[in-house]
Amino acid sequence: MVTIQEAFSILNNNLPAPKVEILPLAKAKKHVLAEDLFAPISMPPFRQSAMDGFAFGLYDGLEYEIIGEVKAGDNHQVVLNAGQAVKIFTGAPVPDSATAVMQIEKVTVSGTVLKLAELPKQEQNIRPVGEQNLKGDLALTKGTLLNAACIGFLAGLGFTVVKVYQKPKIGILVTGNELVQPGLPLDFGKIYESNSVMLDIALQEAFYENTSIYNVNDDFENTKNKIAEALAENDVILISGGISVGDYDFVAKALEVLQVETLFYKVKQKPGKPFYVGKLNDKRIFALPGNPAASLTCFYVYVLPTLQIISGVNTDYGLTSSKKLTHDFTVSNARNQFLKAHIVGDKVTILTHQNSSMLNTFSISNGLVYVEDGGYLLAKGDAVEVYVIN
Ligand code: AMP
Ligand code: MG
Repeated sequence: MVTIQEAFSILNNNLPAPKVEILPLAKAKKHVLAEDLFAPISMPPFRQSAMDGFAFGLYDGLEYEIIGEVKAGDNHQVVLNAGQAVKIFTGAPVPDSATAVMQIEKVTVSGTVLKLAELPKQEQNIRPVGEQNLKGDLALTKGTLLNAACIGFLAGLGFTVVKVYQKPKIGILVTGNELVQPGLPLDFGKIYESNSVMLDIALQEAFYENTSIYNVNDDFENTKNKIAEALAENDVILISGGISVGDYDFVAKALEVLQVETLFYKVKQKPGKPFYVGKLNDKRIFALPGNPAASLTCFYVYVLPTLQIISGVNTDYGLTSSKKLTHDFTVSNARNQFLKAHIVGDKVTILTHQNSSMLNTFSISNGLVYVEDGGYLLAKGDAVEVYVIN
């Protein structure tokens, strides 16, 4: 049995080396950049009109002759002499000989005669070459988590692929003879299987989408064979249930036979005492308690930070924020606890139904209050540590 802090530090000291891959830009959502990216072009690449209007060379009058037009995408050069103007549109290349653009709202046109309401200023309404960035500028740094704006920015610079940290392929193994898939009749003694979909969705919410689910019977051979299959096909496996000390809990024995090295087994915490982490080369194995709330708690506190670090996200274990309790609360336990809770602003309420088998109040939780063991009273307004979970 290890403490929570020991569990964090063992995980942190046994992280597999991150892997990188080249992905098409459109597939790189929520991946972390594995290299600095430098702009291959200046943006904008040419002097660009910022307005619909007229472009002309500066000339001390308010009247010009309109000699043509340039629209977005045109690539011809118009040579403007003193007193001449072209109609121009937003995004169109401004002729080299033009030194200002006047927006359409500030001119009057009759035939080919353009009259300005005011004298233009040098380079007004012209976006200079490289206004956003020059060719060769650092565009995004290694470690950036790619969001829609990043992807748009890179597409605008002409990137089609990016080098990112690979996200692990994850297998979810579900053990338990008592489990029935929702939709089937529920015979006496059975319960509906909820951990696989719950863990899979928790992974998807964090953008780990390369997952597979394996169903395992409570017998040694089947447990061993399915774990071996999942280990061969994935980088990380999450096992639900079967890791306790019951006669039909075969996960620990199967992992041992498969020569998975135990990093720790059992954590001094509530819920989630029967929690196991092991490694086999660069694969990581998390055996989570079968009780649904314990399983999900271990996922948020230990598994998710590990996945994030493996995939290049700059995060740490044990990250909590401080919130104020909305009520008195009596702590009475010999283990440190993660309590289902609801956060609003800087306040937090510990919910009912804390049992590790119950998900009803987890459904309305957006955080887990962390309390140290012992018998003591927390008062309304006291600051408590909270794991914010969504
Ligand atoms: P175990 O860790 O296998 O001893 O299971 C602990 C408790 O969690 C038992 O009451 C199981 O029936 C329940 N349980 C295990 N796996 C699941 C699951 N996938 N979905 C819902 N409940 C489960
Ligand atoms: Mg079981």
